[in-house]
Amino acid sequence: MAQALPLTPSNHDRDSAEMTYVYPVVSRRAGGVSVGVNLNPNNACNWACVYCQVPNLTRGAAPDIDLVRLGAELSVMLTRILHGDFMQPRVPAGTRRLNDIALSGNGEPTSARVFPQVVELIGRVMADFGLVGKIKLVLITNGSLIDRPRVQTGLGKMAPLNGEVWFKFDSATSSGMRSINQTRISPDKQFERLGIAAQLCPTWLQTCVFALDGAPPSVNEQAAYLAAVARVVQHQIPVQGVLLYVLARPSMQPQACRLSSLPAEWLDGFAEKIRAAGLPVKVSL
Ligand code: SF4
Repeated sequence: MAQALPLTPSNHDRDSAEMTYVYPVVSRRAGGVSVGVNLNPNNACNWACVYCQVPNLTRGAAPDIDLVRLGAELSVMLTRILHGDFMQPRVPAGTRRLNDIALSGNGEPTSARVFPQVVELIGRVMADFGLVGKIKLVLITNGSLIDRPRVQTGLGKMAPLNGEVWFKFDSATSSGMRSINQTRISPDKQFERLGIAAQLCPTWLQTCVFALDGAPPSVNEQAAYLAAVARVVQHQIPVQGVLLYVLARPSMQPQACRLSSLPAEWLDGFAEKIRAAGLPVKVSL
């Protein structure tokens, strides 16, 4: 997926480090740094979400990944952050910490054929830097490939690395997924994939809310979403909660001019309804 890290505002430039796969994300508000791993330098994704921040997005999969280069880039970046002068000019004193490594880039990371090998490699580099158990390894995914054995192997390898899956879940209806994510995937199939992910690695639902042509999600859309949340709870799918976020950065897609932010009250009200349906919510403005 990633929509790109939905994390926070801030300095988030995948080219800033002049690396192919690895980029730093400085979060001034939350404090600290996230190291992003972009497995889609070709800007290819199997979805085309209307709010996607990837420029020149094309339909497709990740290219072949140069694992040696990826490992070297990650080591160099971690050395700069942990032992070099990366933090001082960029992160306020008192909040200089490494928060996580996030598989999030310009497309769907699990479309990389070597996804499990990438997780293994990141685990080895984390161990080299004494980071296992100290920071999270986050996968930001649209979840559409989680029924593939190699992706499940990768998720299984993430769990002992303090792994966390952020599973995109913007709509629980076919029409909503077609309109927002521009995919014809069935919501029921996605629900099954969510169950698989949550069994393999701690998983959060990741939901972007916004107004389309000035209107918030319809009453029917909201009802379907809340019914899906209730179904997660009923089926005892071990989802950690919902990450509810807004348009932090402009969409780079042709629909950008149709999107706008929702008022904070709307967001708060929707978060309350999700909590009432049974899941914890973290709101990211
Ligand atoms: S899943 Fe959507 S937001 Fe994420 S990279 Fe693909 S098109 Fe962009």
